[in-house]
Amino acid sequence: MFTKILIANRGEIACRIIKTARALNVATVAVYSDADCDALHVQMADEAVYIGSSPANESYLVIDKLIQAALDSGAQAIHPGYGFLSENAEFCRQCSAHNLVFVGPPSEAILAMGSKSAAKTIMADAGVPLVPGYHGNDQNSDLLKRAANDMGYPVLLKAAAGGGGKGMRAVYSEDEFDAALDAAKREAQNSFNDDIMLVEKYLLKPRHVEIQVFCDSHKNAVYLFERDCSLQRRHQKVIEEAPAPGMSAALRQQMGEAAIKAAQAINYEGAGTVEFLLDTQGEFFFMEMNTRLQVEHPVTEMISGQDLVEWQLLVAVGKPLPCTQGQLQINGHAFEARIYAENPDHDFLPATGRLNLLQPPAETDHIRVDSGVVEGDSVSIYYDPMIAKLVVWDTDRKRALKRLTQALAQYRIGGLKTNIGFLYNLATSQAFGAGDVDTGYIEQHWDEIFRQREQDVGYATPLAAAAIQHLRGQQALAQAKVSRDPNSPWHARDNWGLPKPSYAIEIQGTTVNSGADSGTSLADSTIVADDTGFDLFTPQGFFRCCEVMPDLGLDDELAGGNLTAPMNGTVVTLLSELGATVAKGDTLLVMEAMKMEHCIIAPADGQVAEFYFQPGDLVDGGEELLAFEADQK
Ligand code: ADP
Repeated sequence: MFTKILIANRGEIACRIIKTARALNVATVAVYSDADCDALHVQMADEAVYIGSSPANESYLVIDKLIQAALDSGAQAIHPGYGFLSENAEFCRQCSAHNLVFVGPPSEAILAMGSKSAAKTIMADAGVPLVPGYHGNDQNSDLLKRAANDMGYPVLLKAAAGGGGKGMRAVYSEDEFDAALDAAKREAQNSFNDDIMLVEKYLLKPRHVEIQVFCDSHKNAVYLFERDCSLQRRHQKVIEEAPAPGMSAALRQQMGEAAIKAAQAINYEGAGTVEFLLDTQGEFFFMEMNTRLQVEHPVTEMISGQDLVEWQLLVAVGKPLPCTQGQLQINGHAFEARIYAENPDHDFLPATGRLNLLQPPAETDHIRVDSGVVEGDSVSIYYDPMIAKLVVWDTDRKRALKRLTQALAQYRIGGLKTNIGFLYNLATSQAFGAGDVDTGYIEQHWDEIFRQREQDVGYATPLAAAAIQHLRGQQALAQAKVSRDPNSPWHARDNWGLPKPSYAIEIQGTTVNSGADSGTSLADSTIVADDTGFDLFTPQGFFRCCEVMPDLGLDDELAGGNLTAPMNGTVVTLLSELGATVAKGDTLLVMEAMKMEHCIIAPADGQVAEFYFQPGDLVDGGEELLAFEADQK
């Protein structure tokens, strides 16, 4: 085994790798940027090397710095984690050139799967079933459109270099095609510096079922069963589980063998994931292969009893796989929920800020929390806003799901917006309980997932009132701790407001009268105030409470504030001429933030009088982007 490895990553996955390395007596070297100098992965590692400023392209993505750090620290191998350079063939080559072992597949395998279009050609030759579509080199827009017309709508435009759902657009009819192609190409260019597109038949209601494969340098290959990752929003995974609900042993074996065929077609070594779409008829189609450890690998570990990072290290030193296919067994059922700093009520906009409160449920044999942050840390604009992965296991799906919902109800994070409430509603939604999932699940069950349960609001109201009284008592403290912003509604003394009989608060979108004096006890509850309200953590779950702004008689649509930047980002294009008439709902401006595009929409019929920014300009969240003149009605 290696005696020392460098981990070219950060956050939860760096911490996850350190845990296994430590168990194997392998010393670890962490790397860190300015934003991460006090990060958990730095503290956990045996050594840490500074590699540059906060933006990833000045630190975690700079191959030379990582290689140098490994050489200087005497590491024999580099584990790339996921994301960053984990699927970068050049990084893999540079490791070999410097006599460092890259913990992952050979660079040729990364290259073969690096382009979704090239990968599809290889898979077609290997006889692996594919989603019908165009994956050629000729990128002429008319040709792409003709391909779409021929296969029939809806189609899905996909960036060949894509990942994380970026550069992907569903197109439902020919007249939407050009605009969607432009947008997808732009997003792909921004994210991957490559705008080659695939056109695929957009399957309706498929499931995303992926197979974990492992290969060694002795030509052994096994599959560690499947994960169902159908619960997605914007084509990104939200809750994953293993095994897939309703999966038959025969289909499992068929998909497992197809996945191994895919891996062997590119002489694979190490951990890989072959992603398939599974249709309602039980037919499955190759989508792509990820040549690295996946975010959701813990659910496979929970049901197989194997440590996949240990397997990776064993394969990397040239040992054979620890098990044969026949020795692997599925035991029980596991779920993973990705806990993100984001706002589900605002199109899942990533959130940043300080984790003023961070109390995950206690870890047990049934509950595992993979995280790279501790209370007091900040989620910055620089990296993925994932806070943790909550992983649960039990003997069957029903029990495991109950563990998941209980753990979500116990999870307390304050100081920034998270998706925990959304995950809870999703995990308790009825059809999910029945295992009836497909990739459109969240859209199809939107109302159920976003509905505020009446009994919940009824339960929270007196607690919220008590919380207001409590915060009022601590006003000076709360102000000092919470708000340095003079415009904050919590800054001015009056705004803490007495809970007068007519005082209204909003609890997760539902306006309720808080009542005069609740007399309710806050025992077992935690209140965390911030600039716009407070989070209330109770034994029955989490509630977000805001003060209701007085009605100033403004037209809601115009006062909606959607002409401001939703977060820090860059202006990409201006889509309206000054003074030209636009209809309500037209896109006026496109900006990019955290590698996703956000459209700024006309709030009414009217015209843009002025754009305050030009393409390429950086804007701060909340800044006004343009002056809009609505037509007089
Ligand atoms: P990325 O690499 O950006 O994550 P993938 O190719 O893995 O992109 O696709 C992500 C998700 O998009 C899939 O899990 C699935 O939900 C959806 N998707 C991809 N291709 C299709 C398709 N042809 N039809 C329907 N849904 C698709």
